[in-house]
Amino acid sequence: MPDRLFPTLASGSAKEALRFGDISLTYDDVAAVAGTLARDLPSGRVAVWATPSVHTSVAVVAALLAGVPAIPLNPKIGERELAHILTDSEPVLVLAEPGADLPVGLGGLPRRDIVLEGTSVDLPAEPALIVYTSGTTGPPKGVVLPRRAISTTLDALEDAWEWTADDVLVHGLPLFHVHGLILGILGPLRRGGSVRHLGRFSTEGVARELASGATMMFGVPTMYHRIAGEVGEDPSLAEALSSARLLVSGSAALPVHDHQRITAATGRRVIERYGMTETLMNTSIRVDGEHVPGTVGVPLRGVDLRLVDEAGEPVEEIETVGEIQVRGPNLFTEYLNRPDATEAAFDDGWFRTGDMATRDAAGYVKIVGRKATDLIKSGGYKIGAGEIENALMEHPGVAEVAVTGEPDDDLGERIVAWVVPEGDRPAESELADHVSRLLSPHKRPRVVRYLEALPRNDMGKVMKRALG
Ligand code: ATP
Ligand code: MG
Repeated sequence: MPDRLFPTLASGSAKEALRFGDISLTYDDVAAVAGTLARDLPSGRVAVWATPSVHTSVAVVAALLAGVPAIPLNPKIGERELAHILTDSEPVLVLAEPGADLPVGLGGLPRRDIVLEGTSVDLPAEPALIVYTSGTTGPPKGVVLPRRAISTTLDALEDAWEWTADDVLVHGLPLFHVHGLILGILGPLRRGGSVRHLGRFSTEGVARELASGATMMFGVPTMYHRIAGEVGEDPSLAEALSSARLLVSGSAALPVHDHQRITAATGRRVIERYGMTETLMNTSIRVDGEHVPGTVGVPLRGVDLRLVDEAGEPVEEIETVGEIQVRGPNLFTEYLNRPDATEAAFDDGWFRTGDMATRDAAGYVKIVGRKATDLIKSGGYKIGAGEIENALMEHPGVAEVAVTGEPDDDLGERIVAWVVPEGDRPAESELADHVSRLLSPHKRPRVVRYLEALPRNDMGKVMKRALG
């Protein structure tokens, strides 16, 4: 019986499915090696040492074929986080690329090398993946994802992005989060398209692959920031990007200024989509719709989305901030071992995302920031950090910025801007004046602190809890 997540594997095809450096696998190869791996998997959960490799990709496909829950692990994970994940998820085995160095922290967990050989077999298919959240706001939580969520989200993206078997994806993301693994590997495999993984992201790699037949790129804002900084002076990068069918950004907010610089040099817009480990994808700009920069588009097919105010009442007015709540077949089933957290995450069947947003008259969602860290209550105003960050990014003396609130006797909270300067350090008053001029005086940062780099996690997300 063909597997319902990957009907593409049953049809038999010599088309390239996955390429990582010099290793290339066809759909026939993926079916064969994943089938063989699947047959030998134990019945308990398996961890996958998620190096950016073809081995990781086929191991996850094998686990999905076998109905064995797989837990992708960050190969650069620190001891404490690893211990937390292993105790929490209790895998019986770790699957690893031959030759990959595993840390001692893996304790007595048996290792099995992912060997790429074998013959095709059909196996019963059950759930699921357990993917840990990025740990931006606290310790990562294990998110149990059913197969239904994966197929629903990938098919909704097919609809929004007109994603086909002819698409060839340039991929430079890690494989232990939803973005790189589910969208970046399982997505093309479900569609019957191809993946070319860069191993490590580089703008040269992106330019090379887009110039030689790749049609789409998935990236996080730090990647588009690098591209924005280089594309004006690099005609081959600009030309390669202008030939792409689809440039997609997600995992964090894409600064408007970076988006504008890319559009100015290439004539192309970057499609922003918004998702989470718990919900997979919720909204996106649609290929056949209007591109509204600074927004994450409209709810994907099958996703119910509402905004809710502090009293828990739905916000109907346009341009009014509320917390995003979602419902639909794209949702996770539970947090692993956290019935308390699972229960607290739902409001009458709606999942509380913790993200704050507004909607315009056409229903485009604009994310203001996270409820926990990005909503600053200062002088009686509620101010979104993202708006101030976007304004500061437009200042030529600012390379990177994060805005936070800290307690203040007069204001309740005062606005603090953490700035990585571009060249000479701009004066504090100059930056504050710049914000007052572009936005309004109550959004003026009261304190500017200069840093050499912002603390970021492996998805390039700023860890605001590490500031201060
Ligand atoms: P943790 O839940 O452990 O604190 P995390 O929320 O960063 O970490 P993920 O599930 O990987 O873990 O990320 C989901 C979050 O990423 C969303 O809740 C949202 O805040 C942010 N995000 C994703 N896409 C976008 C986007 N396009 N614009 C702004 N924020 C985004
Ligand atoms: Mg989260």
